[in-house]
Amino acid sequence: MGVMYSSTRNADVKYRASEAILKGLADDGGLFVPDSIPALDVSMEDLAKMSYQETAYEVMKLFLSDFTEEELKSCIEKAYDSKFDTPEIAPLVSADGAYYLELFHGSTIAFKDMALSILPYLLTTSAKKNQVKNDIVILTATSGDTGKAALAGFADVPGTKIIVFYPKNGVSPIQEKQMVTQKGDNTFVVGIHGNFDQAQTGVKQMFNDKNLAKQLGDAGFQFSSANSINIGRLVPQVVYYVYAYAKMYANGVIAKDEKINVVVPTGNFGNILAAFYAKNMGVPIAKLICASNENKVLFDFFRTGTYDRNRDFILTSSPSMDILISSNLERLIYRIAGNDAAKNAELMKSLSTTGKYEITPEMKALLDDFYGNYTSEQETADVISDLYEKTGYIIDTHTAVAAGVYHKYKEETKDTQTKTVIASTASPFKFTRSVMDAIDKKYDSMSDFELVDELSRIGNVAVPQAIEDIRSAAVVHDTVCEVDEMPDVVKKFLGV
Ligand SMILES: *Cc1c(COP(=O)(O)O)cnc(C)c1O
Repeated sequence: MGVMYSSTRNADVKYRASEAILKGLADDGGLFVPDSIPALDVSMEDLAKMSYQETAYEVMKLFLSDFTEEELKSCIEKAYDSKFDTPEIAPLVSADGAYYLELFHGSTIAFKDMALSILPYLLTTSAKKNQVKNDIVILTATSGDTGKAALAGFADVPGTKIIVFYPKNGVSPIQEKQMVTQKGDNTFVVGIHGNFDQAQTGVKQMFNDKNLAKQLGDAGFQFSSANSINIGRLVPQVVYYVYAYAKMYANGVIAKDEKINVVVPTGNFGNILAAFYAKNMGVPIAKLICASNENKVLFDFFRTGTYDRNRDFILTSSPSMDILISSNLERLIYRIAGNDAAKNAELMKSLSTTGKYEITPEMKALLDDFYGNYTSEQETADVISDLYEKTGYIIDTHTAVAAGVYHKYKEETKDTQTKTVIASTASPFKFTRSVMDAIDKKYDSMSDFELVDELSRIGNVAVPQAIEDIRSAAVVHDTVCEVDEMPDVVKKFLGV
């Protein structure tokens, strides 16, 4: 029968993959998890010869067990095509003793494209398989990158509408411009007076609002999610860890079965959870290094076993990681609680009522696969300028957080020999001002697009098409609202 999905808060009801993708979030507010993580059933020798698309099929077929071969291959082919500016899709670049896995070659130049270019196809295929007649309304909270990638993925997809909420003062100028210029009759973009956590909580509340669901249903709509709480986001992200390992093996960088470390700049804990799934599928990964910015709630959690979001929310130069409630951590908590939904539900209840929870020593012992640390704003800037001066390679602020944490990991553990992959989650062109400022303060006076051209010149890389596209694009979305007005805005957009 293959993998089935149940909620992290109730293990009794099982769903097929396509149903879990359609629902996004379980009815009880929990996240869908596979009943077991499947093992890869092809050898590394075979994987080493495969393209990105072929690897994607081998990984995703194991999780999406109710998709036919034809359905899944069609989704993969439509997603990973010339929207990506390199046929490798996710190239590995060696610099300063680490391997940067560049996940930003898709149409919106951040790693969210890796999953959001396929999610619309997975979702519309799922709708067809389940005879869904309603239009699907994708509700999305974004810290900056998910929003644009989801808009690009769903724009003009028949049978769907997409509504994106972003923190009005919490994203980079380029990120905002990318979103508010989005074309497509089915796209809606809203800035909220609040931070990402408030946007995410507001969206989750709408998912759990039975009255709203009824009103929508009567009008022929149903909600789904493009956030990484959707299993259809997580599964495609497992692929590039398998692919990266296989490419390193193919290129002779590592020997058969040699273990590697993976460093992931983390916000909602989705990307690093995908690496954890890859490890559990059999990819030889030693440490999963979880890198945070000054919103270091995960660092504190890995050190102390207490998750505590009661602290100031800090706006940093890596806005896509400005998060205090890491949704996907719930999937890990469920697992280290021995797949005990009741125990997990209790901890999540504590999180929503008191803002914190504490895991048991037995659970903490199961976190051995992870190492957590963080970088300050100054350290992040220094990592960018040091790497640039040493190698000429320019990384974005999020990737710099990961590189900085990798330096700290090596110093603390003396593990300097293990080959290490750093997930490079955004193009530096997306965070041009922070990146250029890190390299030299003299750039302060330039405009955003002057900085783009200067970055292209000093880094010797072409300006990505995604940036060219917004240079002169007209703003078409200008709605701004308070956090508690989010449901009204949704109803107004849908004419309900
Ligand atoms: C979303 C994002 C992250 C964080 O990824 P999570 O899966 O939320 O942990 C890191 N870097 C960039 C550039 C992002 O867009």
